[in-house]
Amino acid sequence: MDDLNQLNLSESIIERWLRETDPLELDHLWEAADKTRRKFVGNEVHLRGLIEISNYCIRNCDYCGLRASNKKVERYRLSKDEILGAVEEAVNLGYGTIVMQAGEDPGIRVDWLADIIESIKEISNVAITLSLGERDESEWRQWYTAGADRYLLRFETSDKELYERIHPSGNNPRPHRLEQLKTLKQIGYETGSGVMVGIPGQSFQSLAHDISLFRELDLDMIGIGPFIPCPGTPLAENPIAYALAGGSDQVRNDDLSTLKALALTRLVRPDANIPSTTALGTINPDKGRELGLKRGANIVMPNFTPMPYRKMYAIYPDKASLSESADHIETGESLLRQQIKTMGRTVGTGQGSRPGFIRKQE
Ligand code: SAH
Ligand code: SF4
Repeated sequence: MDDLNQLNLSESIIERWLRETDPLELDHLWEAADKTRRKFVGNEVHLRGLIEISNYCIRNCDYCGLRASNKKVERYRLSKDEILGAVEEAVNLGYGTIVMQAGEDPGIRVDWLADIIESIKEISNVAITLSLGERDESEWRQWYTAGADRYLLRFETSDKELYERIHPSGNNPRPHRLEQLKTLKQIGYETGSGVMVGIPGQSFQSLAHDISLFRELDLDMIGIGPFIPCPGTPLAENPIAYALAGGSDQVRNDDLSTLKALALTRLVRPDANIPSTTALGTINPDKGRELGLKRGANIVMPNFTPMPYRKMYAIYPDKASLSESADHIETGESLLRQQIKTMGRTVGTGQGSRPGFIRKQE
């Protein structure tokens, strides 16, 4: 337990904690993560309004329901008016950040989105986060110049073999996402990444390496969620083949493994913004979100995608959380605020950037 007090948790110590199963021992990890969270980012929980602007995707990630080959998905792309409507809803509830997420969709034209980014900034000085997959550097630059502030691009796993197995480049080759993150940082984005926990074929050692990379990459935001099998995708249809290819040291895709990874992430990147992810809330609907916030997280990302489209953005099954449905947006919102208060935390105000982060002067 003393090893948690070390400033630079080594990869082998991280791996040992990932393997720990004794609840009494784990209490030390939860306590250390919560204390570190309080010390570095305080008691505020920042809310980010998530808008899933398109579910078109040209990529074929083996884990994801939106992969191009999944012909069962009914595809949509929101109009500018629909996006601005969702932004206004979040802004009226006091949100300081909007996240626009989508599949890798070339139909999201660079000028079209730049115009929307400018229009959002006219409505309110919210921070704008993009999570639109792998795009050309010139497009990322144009969106930054238009006013986008942050970019999320999870590298999913640092194990190169596993990455290539589950993230085929097909007709759209790009460098490993780890390389692309450097470009995002250079442009000036507040940069987020992360991984899935329990990908078939993911070993404890490789997950420990992922977590130590969060520190090395000096990430501003880190999202960690369990891998959730999605029917109709290769990883869900044939997990054993993928797990066997990875060897016998498989990490489980459950809430405990995810919470351990999350807590260790807080320890290695004390001042990062770390969400309690929707995926964690999906595999443990009763307690997932709360446990995430108690074991290192300081961010929640409620969904503002207009209702008819929400169920079409099926990265994995049963994603939408009832309490956040549009009919009950006020109810979902007040429940969330109540939950935050009950935990002795407050709802964050303002943009909620990583402490000390300053946008580049253009
Ligand atoms: N297209 C963009 C953004 C949408 S996908 C991109 O790929 O970056 C956002 C994240 O959803 C992915 O990075 C991945 O970590 C997660 N995801 C995809 N399929 C998943 C699954 N089956 N279970 C859990 N998370 C998944
Ligand atoms: Fe497309 Fe992102 Fe899903 Fe990969 S994870 S298939 S890029 S939406």
